[in-house]
Amino acid sequence: MAQQPITLIGGGLVGALLAQQLAGRGFAVDVYEKRPDPRLSGFLGGRSINLALAERGLQALRTAGLADDVLQRAVMMRGRMVHDRDGNSGLQRYGVDDSEVIWSVSRGALNMLLLDAAEAAGVRFHFGQSLVGADFRQQRIRLADEAGVERELDAGVLVGADGAGSAVRAAMNAHAPLGERIESLGHGYKELEIPPAGELPAAVLQLSGGHDQFALEPHALHIWPRGGYMCIALPNTEGSFTVTLFLPAQGAAPSFATLPGAGAAAAFFREQFPGLLPLIPRFDEDFDSHPVGTLSTLYLERWHLDGRALLLGDAAHAIVPFHGQGMNCGFEDTVVLANLLAEAPDDSAEVFAEFQRVRQPNADAIAAMALENYVEMRDSVADPHYLAKRELGSA
Ligand code: FAD
Repeated sequence: MAQQPITLIGGGLVGALLAQQLAGRGFAVDVYEKRPDPRLSGFLGGRSINLALAERGLQALRTAGLADDVLQRAVMMRGRMVHDRDGNSGLQRYGVDDSEVIWSVSRGALNMLLLDAAEAAGVRFHFGQSLVGADFRQQRIRLADEAGVERELDAGVLVGADGAGSAVRAAMNAHAPLGERIESLGHGYKELEIPPAGELPAAVLQLSGGHDQFALEPHALHIWPRGGYMCIALPNTEGSFTVTLFLPAQGAAPSFATLPGAGAAAAFFREQFPGLLPLIPRFDEDFDSHPVGTLSTLYLERWHLDGRALLLGDAAHAIVPFHGQGMNCGFEDTVVLANLLAEAPDDSAEVFAEFQRVRQPNADAIAAMALENYVEMRDSVADPHYLAKRELGSA
């Protein structure tokens, strides 16, 4: 059966996985992606940024036939390794055995794997193409290339998987308000790196509890909870860890505003994260060159414009990262949408309404849980009462 063509904006994690599944169901899919092709140009300047892949996301990858390929490039995390200020650490397992674990995956490697899979399924990618406007009456979109040269083309059914700052959402909102509300968390984040063990002095490694090429226990999500703020670290397959410092953006110390440069930040780490600092030999360079990211929750009353345009993934429901579920939730979106479209390929208005009806309660629930989990991760996990309750199976 001939299906209506789909124009997808954004070839990130969610866009690439959706494109693969739609092409597999016979849809003609064109993806326009702002960035150059990461398989040719490298991803995000080559930094190792990773994400926690959980059962929800894994189930979507199984549906797409990609779970085994992804898991081959992932590091199993059996639980949280909580580090106190005095250098003591303890593993809080996620489940009774290795059937209940999460996985650390490289954002760049995962994106490239999904792009390859989508291309193999017949998707056409157009890199270096930013959506800059849309005319929903004419069903046409405006794209700019990397030199800023603009062109217009017919879009047909438009799907926005272009992330938290979605240009598709902005264009839809300008056409007919979507009931958008963005709540800033007031905290920001900065990424640092623990290199593979081979790059660290033996004296540092003796204290850190790592093994093989890893400076820390590899099969854990590490947390240094400090009440109002925290650091976390996730392992990468080649032996490094990506560390993320979460801290209030403004206000009294400690906040990013009170740590303008690496000197003040290193003094803060020496006091609050004394066991972690020696594991980050390029601390000054990382701190001064990596930007402070902002964290917000996005709520929309409407995710679609009748059958003409739809948002999914972060473009529809960006959340704070403390449950490690933004990508996982977006991956679930892709399976639901691909199935609905395959069942009713000529009724996108009904499909988009049903998609929002099914997915929005889930997105709202995970948004609330992610906000709650920030308090749990930075504070409760270090609380002896919490640990006692957890021992009894009630936390
Ligand atoms: P994105 O990944 O943002 O992709 C959007 C794509 O659209 C990009 O490729 C972008 O270049 C492209 N684009 C943007 N604008 C345009 C335009 N105008 N025209 C064309 N293309 C455009 N989630 C988890 O599940 N587990 C985790 O452990 C986790 N950790 C996180 C840690 C941090 C610090 C943060 C900030 C987020 C984390 N997340 C995590 C959330 C996760 O990153 C997002 O939910 C996920 O990336 C959403 O995927 P997406 O494809 O919807 O959006």
